[in-house]
Amino acid sequence: GAGETTRSFEADVARLLHLMVHSVYSDKDVFLRELVSNAADACEKLRFEAIADPALLDGGGEPAITLTVDPAARTLAVEDNGIGMTEAEMAEALGTIARSGTRAFMERMAESAKGGESRLIGQFGVGFYSAFMVADRVDVVSRRAGGDTAARWSSDGLGTYTVGTADPAEAPARGTRVTLHLKEDAGAYLDPDALERTVRAQSGHVPVPIALRRAPDAEPERIADGAALWTRPKSEISAADYADAYRTLAGQFDDPALTLHYRAEGLHEYTVLAFVPGSKPFDLFDPDRAGRMKLYVRRVFITDEAEILPRWLRFVRGLVDSADLPLNVSREMIQESRVVAAIRKGVTNRVLSELGKLAENEPGRYAEVWENFGAVLKEGLYEDEDRRAALLGIARFRTTASGEAPRSLGDYVAAMKDGQAAIYYAVGADADRLAASPQLEGFAARGVEVLLLTDQVDGFWTSMVPEFEGKPLRSVTQGLADLGAVPLREGAEAPEAETAPEIEGFLAYLRETLGADVSDVRASERLTDSAVCLVAPDRGIDRQLERLLASAGR
Ligand code: ADP
Ligand code: MG
Repeated sequence: GAGETTRSFEADVARLLHLMVHSVYSDKDVFLRELVSNAADACEKLRFEAIADPALLDGGGEPAITLTVDPAARTLAVEDNGIGMTEAEMAEALGTIARSGTRAFMERMAESAKGGESRLIGQFGVGFYSAFMVADRVDVVSRRAGGDTAARWSSDGLGTYTVGTADPAEAPARGTRVTLHLKEDAGAYLDPDALERTVRAQSGHVPVPIALRRAPDAEPERIADGAALWTRPKSEISAADYADAYRTLAGQFDDPALTLHYRAEGLHEYTVLAFVPGSKPFDLFDPDRAGRMKLYVRRVFITDEAEILPRWLRFVRGLVDSADLPLNVSREMIQESRVVAAIRKGVTNRVLSELGKLAENEPGRYAEVWENFGAVLKEGLYEDEDRRAALLGIARFRTTASGEAPRSLGDYVAAMKDGQAAIYYAVGADADRLAASPQLEGFAARGVEVLLLTDQVDGFWTSMVPEFEGKPLRSVTQGLADLGAVPLREGAEAPEAETAPEIEGFLAYLRETLGADVSDVRASERLTDSAVCLVAPDRGIDRQLERLLASAGR
């Protein structure tokens, strides 16, 4: 058409598209979830922009998503009357990989061995480009809310796309239409009944109504009512409904490990729908990744950058819908709002207490949550002093006594030996190697349990958390791990008395030989089989932390 230009995709997009086109991923339905969720996002963006500029809503009708099947032309169209895109916005959004999720997906792809691809698609969802799993050509026409020109974008997914102005007559009155020219083997998406089932199951809870047109000239039939799930009473919502809402909200493809749905009343009124994922989201350790909770005001999406939850709960996905905030709340207002501060505090405490309940009532399921997210929760031990005690209470550890089932510090303290004054821990990269280290011989000989800490953060929080329930935490690599008061187990051999004159003479010889390389050489009750081990000075920095700091160049 007029003013149409052909452009090449960014290299990363081209790679991603190649993958989509040749994908062997069997659950191709995910493309529908992606397109419907983009359409819903567009409607929510419009609702939000219209708060400041109500004229944007003129003549476009109530927010709606419409699917149209055209068996003769072998096309499936997903249309919304949301915010729309200008030509420039199209080239930006549909020619590059703007979203961090897709970027992270690409990085993981590069790391993973060949063949892991389809599994990764299933885990992440990859946005708009997933349309090329089922289509050999995708056309997008769009009209930005408030604008009078229309734009079009088209591609066969093979390296280039065209973008240009569109005839306004072929574009929606407002919003975007994405038309998929279905591949030979994707004919199933032309069956309206099957389509209806899939969309209901996957996207029945998006907060925008969805209609289906069974043929281009047929009337649209409503297949989902757009009633936001969280506004309905809990008693009317099934586990399957929650799971669908979770997948839509979290972009996950599994089942939630924990679901929270409640309404806070009192000083502030808000509804919370939040999930602890059943598996690790891919961007869990992304340093820029703050919380993923969305903020709504009376069902209008406001932002997902309100940082409702602290960083150490960044794996929780969901939303808060406030009845107290003004609809035109700005970024600055959110920063300073006392209402938002109260919501943050309330939701954080609630998530923590629900995790505590799960730990108590369903230890097996909780163990999985801890396995996935314990390393993140531990960041709270040094970031949030007020909640440290609660976090220590729900922390679980592999120890020299735990076997496969992780233990709590409460379990540890209850099992402490007579004369044992501290909680002992060893930090390292590998639990089995730690357990076999000479540092632990003296502990084993006395039957004293040692926590085996293998997460990156363990070196940090242990240096900042002084105690649990009055028992000091002590690293086994720090000197004088005062075990003297704990009797040896029966059959274990007592080390030589350290005052024996031959030993003193030998120690003096070692001190002289090693010189400034060590600060002291001592006999110790910590070893039973090995001859020597290196320890940090009594008040010195833990050796593992020392290594971490050295690797960070400090
Ligand atoms: P994400 O939705 O995570 O941003 P996608 O790949 O699904 O990533 O979409 C990329 C971008 O394309 C969106 O961020 C949005 O800017 C734009 N987009 C896609 N579909 C629509 C639509 N129906 N209406 C408006 N913009 C859209
Ligand atoms: Mg999307």
